[in-house]
Amino acid sequence: MEERFSKIIVKVGDITKEDADAIVNAANSSLLGGGGVDGAIHRAAGPDLLTECAGLGGCPAGEAKTTKGYRLPAEYVIHTVGPIWRGGGRGEEKTLENAYRNSLLEAVRVGAKTVAFPAISTGVYRFPPQRAAEIAVSTVAEFLGEHPEIEQIRLVCFSQESKEYHEAALRSLAGRQGSVD
Ligand code: ADP
Repeated sequence: MEERFSKIIVKVGDITKEDADAIVNAANSSLLGGGGVDGAIHRAAGPDLLTECAGLGGCPAGEAKTTKGYRLPAEYVIHTVGPIWRGGGRGEEKTLENAYRNSLLEAVRVGAKTVAFPAISTGVYRFPPQRAAEIAVSTVAEFLGEHPEIEQIRLVCFSQESKEYHEAALRSLAGRQGSVD
């Protein structure tokens, strides 16, 4: 398989346990904590994470801001805000792509070489998970083509179904681009 595809790992797991240089948080725009993966990251990182987040002034959808990882195994947390799904006609796909891309630009900026992502927007923000997986895989694959300094991107799924959507999207993209594996 082409090298950039082999840098993408799809797995089921709890992202708070990942020993990547940076993990990405699917936050809300206040950056002041929430449920889902955001709640889990804040619980695992400890209260200093919320203190640092409170000084960031929030984050618009599609953008990303970085903090330290505190008690997490990861050195950094890259907080991004995905789109709330409102039927697909309000630029949700582009905003989701921007969330992945801007998170990876933050990773490059801080020198993180291994980055773990949750399936952004597929929880309470209700983005259709199969389409979200396609956007996740195509955006990170494109970024890896442009930024060989990133060594590994882990797509950490919270269910077997989510993992299967990401694996299918990866197979289809690698196939379309003429690779054999
Ligand atoms: P959003 O508001 O962006 O939809 P959520 O946290 O509600 O964010 O959900 C995003 C994804 O993260 C969902 O697929 C959810 O199942 C998953 N998730 C929840 N907790 C964890 C965790 N500890 N590790 C990895 N993924 C998680």
